[in-house]
Amino acid sequence: MERGAGAEAHLTDADYQEVGAAVGSAADAWAADAVLKVAPPEPSESSRAGSLLIGFLNPLANPERVRRLAAERVTAFAMEAIPRISRAQSMDALSSQSNVAGYKAALLGAEHSTRFYPMLTTAAGTIPPARILVLGAGVAGLQAIATARRLGAVVSAFDVRPAVKEQVESLGANFLELDVEGAEGQGGYAVALSDDQHEREQELIGRHVAESDAVITTALIPGRPAPVLITADAARGMRPGSVIVDLAAEAGGNCELTQPGETVNHGGVRVLGPLNVPASVPLHASQMLSRNFQNFLLHLLKKGELQLDLADEITSGALITKDGAIANAAVKNALGTQNVPRCAISSRQSSSSWSPWSTTSRPAATAVLITFFQEQCARTFAPRECAVSITASSSAFERLMPPPYSGTACPPDRKTLIMRAPRLISLRTSARNSSAPEAKTCAPLLPSSHHHFSVSV
Ligand code: NAD
Repeated sequence: MERGAGAEAHLTDADYQEVGAAVGSAADAWAADAVLKVAPPEPSESSRAGSLLIGFLNPLANPERVRRLAAERVTAFAMEAIPRISRAQSMDALSSQSNVAGYKAALLGAEHSTRFYPMLTTAAGTIPPARILVLGAGVAGLQAIATARRLGAVVSAFDVRPAVKEQVESLGANFLELDVEGAEGQGGYAVALSDDQHEREQELIGRHVAESDAVITTALIPGRPAPVLITADAARGMRPGSVIVDLAAEAGGNCELTQPGETVNHGGVRVLGPLNVPASVPLHASQMLSRNFQNFLLHLLKKGELQLDLADEITSGALITKDGAIANAAVKNALGTQNVPRCAISSRQSSSSWSPWSTTSRPAATAVLITFFQEQCARTFAPRECAVSITASSSAFERLMPPPYSGTACPPDRKTLIMRAPRLISLRTSARNSSAPEAKTCAPLLPSSHHHFSVSV
């Protein structure tokens, strides 16, 4: 074990030595046959050729790192790619950490609230219970509901997956019937709503947000930016002293006012965008996570030897690189398309590390776009070979883009911003539907020699 690795969870090196672990330097740890690490490896960290690496590798957001692992001939497994099936529940680190995050989100709401959560009958008067709204009722949302209920709050919740209603009600919360229903995709995950449905959801949710003392948001769509459920207007419509805890901040946020990693105060409404929330409950988060790692490692071993059974759904699902090659189809796809000039790379592959549409300030949104461009594209290609087009609804563009890129008079309802490092160079517009007549006049004219990343907002 790397010296001091447990310190943040108040576990000392001696605790590990007592149960038989050898403690050494980081270099000693990386020389092991198998390395278990929470975060993805830094550029300075390399495994031994032929060794095993297990961790949160975030492979789709950083396919280049995966390419490096393959080149180093590391057998790498991503914890987040373990299939969410019953047999793999004891290895499901997404679930264990979402449970921690949901619990902590309810407490953060209580801590930042100006009110009690429970109803209190005292000599000084009767205090009504706080009203909490939970948006997104997956693992984190359900744990937030359970925790807020234990604290005595009156809880309502909404999720686009109708199957969740029963689970919400079994925890003593009220499921909002909003007449907005989304599909359930592979693995039980939600599928993104259509634009119309999304707008309708925002409008309906806005009314409930205004009546809530705290809102906890957890809505995510795998591989995409978090859906914006609470508009800036809806958040500002809350009573002063109310709180929004946006657990989706890492994916851009479910509230338009969320600033990832910060707490912002808008006229007395505090919007929290906490990052890496499980690390704020380090002991139990670590215990649960280490149990997930342990169960997965044991799943890969037979009689103490590594024996990969690639016919097994859990092993093959989590495998990212092996024998110098990339084993995961989605990552291969992400890397393959990046190398083809003029291909469109959808936000599915590139969204998690940047999400300008979650930012309300125009200069900030532009800065995020430029950073994305410089970091993601210019690093891979010569800057002049690369163009990025961002396609958004007109209203999103007006909100996000600084003049002179906003407010053009072009007729279509989608606009495309073309950037060339290090600054934005032009704005062209394109129609959402290529068969629409205006597509001819306003289609973006990217030079054919350019790599074309296109992202829909
Ligand atoms: P998640 O973190 O991907 O998303 C959180 C929630 O946000 C989901 O419930 C989703 O429906 C909801 N959501 C997305 N868009 C929304 C919108 N526009 N408005 C409102 N809500 C929205 O989800 P998760 O917690 O990881 O769970 C994903 C699935 O995996 C669920 O079906 C869950 O039951 C399943 N799961 C299965 C196992 C297992 O072992 N069988 C374990 C854990 C989770």
